[in-house]
Amino acid sequence: MTSTHTSAAGSIAQDLIAQGLVSHCTIVPPYILEALATSGEPRVARHARESLRHDEQLRAARRTPTARPTGRRAPRGEDAAGAHGTGPHRTIFDAKGTQDTPGTQVRAEGGGPTGDVAVNEAYDGLGATWDLWSTAYSRDSLDGKGMPLLATVHYGRNYDNAFWDGSQMVFGDGDGVIFERFTKSVDVIGHELAHGVTEHTAGLLYQGQSGALNESVSDVFGVLVKQKALGQSAAEADWLVGADLLNASVKGRALRDMRNPGTAYDDPRLGTDPQPADMDHYVDTKDDNGGVHINSGIPNRAFVLAAEAIGGNAWEGAGAVWYAVLSGDGIRADCDFATFAGLTVAAAGSAHGDGSPQQEAVRSAWEQVGVLTAGVRPPSGGSGGTAPSPAPGQGGGAPSADAQVLLRRTGGFAGQVRERRMALGELSERDAKDWQHLLAAPTLERIAASTERTHPDAFVYSVVCDETGCDVTLQEPHLPEAIHSLFERTLAQDD
Ligand SMILES: [Zn+2]
Repeated sequence: MTSTHTSAAGSIAQDLIAQGLVSHCTIVPPYILEALATSGEPRVARHARESLRHDEQLRAARRTPTARPTGRRAPRGEDAAGAHGTGPHRTIFDAKGTQDTPGTQVRAEGGGPTGDVAVNEAYDGLGATWDLWSTAYSRDSLDGKGMPLLATVHYGRNYDNAFWDGSQMVFGDGDGVIFERFTKSVDVIGHELAHGVTEHTAGLLYQGQSGALNESVSDVFGVLVKQKALGQSAAEADWLVGADLLNASVKGRALRDMRNPGTAYDDPRLGTDPQPADMDHYVDTKDDNGGVHINSGIPNRAFVLAAEAIGGNAWEGAGAVWYAVLSGDGIRADCDFATFAGLTVAAAGSAHGDGSPQQEAVRSAWEQVGVLTAGVRPPSGGSGGTAPSPAPGQGGGAPSADAQVLLRRTGGFAGQVRERRMALGELSERDAKDWQHLLAAPTLERIAASTERTHPDAFVYSVVCDETGCDVTLQEPHLPEAIHSLFERTLAQDD
């Protein structure tokens, strides 16, 4: 197989990206490449600029999807259909320093090791990733149907990145000064392939909070690939992403530290790790698709806290809960942090029982990072002592039970208006709590700000709460299902 300018697989990927059906993701965030591009080391700066330029070309080809592509998601139960397949179907290609993908085939499934360490690392990393999805989650490859795993190594010259192009993995060799070759960390391979799983399940939009969740899910399952391959429990794991990518000269441990976001590196050339560890430090930015590689630190830390509190192997404990949410019917493409948190609490309850230690661990984890608000949980008399005391300042944004909320639904084909003014205390305990969570976080504002498109005949909801200053108008098609059903339940209770 020889590759010319643009291979068939490459052009299909570009078409999919252009159609908004897949998102292009790179492991090294643009802010790091930008820092390197202005680095005092000419060689590093030149390679970083080249990587940035290439990433920009790929990004330009992508349009943000406006809705989950219908028909791409496996129906319930289908995920397991191929789980008894015969194993992964891996093919490794060599781009030989070009940017043509896939390149020349150098190792196929069942073939022995070659003399090229990058080829062998890619092959083994794809295998470790397939193994996690298959044995831990009964999922046969990324699509649940045995999708072949393709990877290209030696992409570009000194290319400082790895990415998933919608159909295959691509690895650069790194500049050798800041970054080593990108096949070196198996969690990076696992990260990129997890983007393929997300694409075939929740389809999380690669923008803002849903984009940061998309990134976080990839970090989570990326490190779980490594932990399972090494047989490490949650307590033994280092929770680092890309630890082996950094050259020994770099002042840092990894690209990201899931347990301690914001502390992974502090290097004159790389800058300082910008990840926040909680919602108080959420970063509002237009860069990086709304900070998807930055704010992912918040759900990343929630996962680690849940995994450590549950104990044992993280891929079996917290990992199974996260996977149930990712592949379940409750999640929507525009899911935000609070909705995702609620779904994981519910999934932990389904798996282990309401009020179980596992469910409390998950709830507590989201409270510690400020996504769920401590203090509005039901008095459970929990005996485990695992619940943290609320951090100072946490919960300050939650409205009181006396808070007055106006919910108004307009639009719709028949043009009827439904409206309810209520004090939160009038509602059922569950709905009152849901409203308090919702109004304590800027969730509704974010949905309203991120969606401009209007839909003929769709309902429009407005929510006003003087106590929290909330005053937003939302299109029904943009609402996460959990919020939509809360609104409809609230309106229905007024009958
Ligand atoms: Zn990613």
